[in-house]
Amino acid sequence: MSKKIVKIRNIALGNEKVYIQSMLNLPSGDIEGNVNQAKRLEAVGCEIIRVSIPDIADVKLIPAIKNSVSMPVVADIHFDYRIALESVKAGADKIRINPGNIGDKDRVKAIVEACKTVGIPIRIGVNCGSVEKDLLLKHGGPNANALAEGALRQISFLNDLGFDDIVVSVKASDVKTNIAANRILSAETPYPIHIGVTEAGTERMGLIKSAVGIGSLLCDGIGDTIRVSLTADPEREIYAAKDILKAAGILKSGAEIISCPTCGRTKIDVVKLASQVEDALKDIEKSIKIAVMGCAVNGPGEAREADYGIAGGEGEGIIFKKGKVIKKVPEKKVLFELMNLVDKD
Ligand code: SF4
Repeated sequence: MSKKIVKIRNIALGNEKVYIQSMLNLPSGDIEGNVNQAKRLEAVGCEIIRVSIPDIADVKLIPAIKNSVSMPVVADIHFDYRIALESVKAGADKIRINPGNIGDKDRVKAIVEACKTVGIPIRIGVNCGSVEKDLLLKHGGPNANALAEGALRQISFLNDLGFDDIVVSVKASDVKTNIAANRILSAETPYPIHIGVTEAGTERMGLIKSAVGIGSLLCDGIGDTIRVSLTADPEREIYAAKDILKAAGILKSGAEIISCPTCGRTKIDVVKLASQVEDALKDIEKSIKIAVMGCAVNGPGEAREADYGIAGGEGEGIIFKKGKVIKKVPEKKVLFELMNLVDKD
């Protein structure tokens, strides 16, 4: 099925690129804090930012954020359709609703008409808690089929109103349900799909669940935007999203660190050095592969595909380029020498 392109401010969803998004998490009354958080997130690589608008008074967040960042600003609305209407007026670049909790169809229709008038898309988000009762009965619970049919039903409703500017998401916190629902949805709809594992958890487990849940869909070619939901600073979500995109072979820019697991042959502090290298290169834009290996016996050979690498020698660090040793330096200077080479590359 050919994909539909949906424009949100300055980006087009539905092409080859997969966009990284996150959500602000400060109290909605804290305009300055939210604006600063949005700026920080954009600086580390966020490409779409979502903000909760729990109350009509909070719509003033939308112009404040839009004036401070160039990425699209998505208003996240629950329950009250009037907040969605005000968010459209306030300049939101996209409205995210869960039609199931907006209630009466006339209210959803009012949101659709407002978005149509100004030409902004709607993301329909369906999760396990918002599947309609008849679908729960039909499918025997909030499973993948129920989620996918719930989303497809909402898409049909919007289509019947003559609205086609749609992004869709189905999310579950259970990874397998999440993957299965998105596979069904992707086969049935041309609209861009936002993917993520909802309520994924703390940074460690949330990243693992997201890597499996988002990563497997990306490897199937499913997903136009992603959010890694973590119970952590949203900046961590952006770094995690970039790493998942790199691991899935989608994001080619930035540093990829290869490091060995260490063993009895290890001659250098690989654990410390690998995390120092990762930290030093976390914001680099050029595509570069760096290896940190524990010994010279296997290191350079095993990491031949790396652009540069470090391996542990007898009381020294060995620096190699594409598997060939180019320098030997004292261990305490090895990081400095490696960074010099990366800078000059
Ligand atoms: S590179 Fe060397 S130290 Fe690291 S795991 Fe392989 S053999 Fe062991």
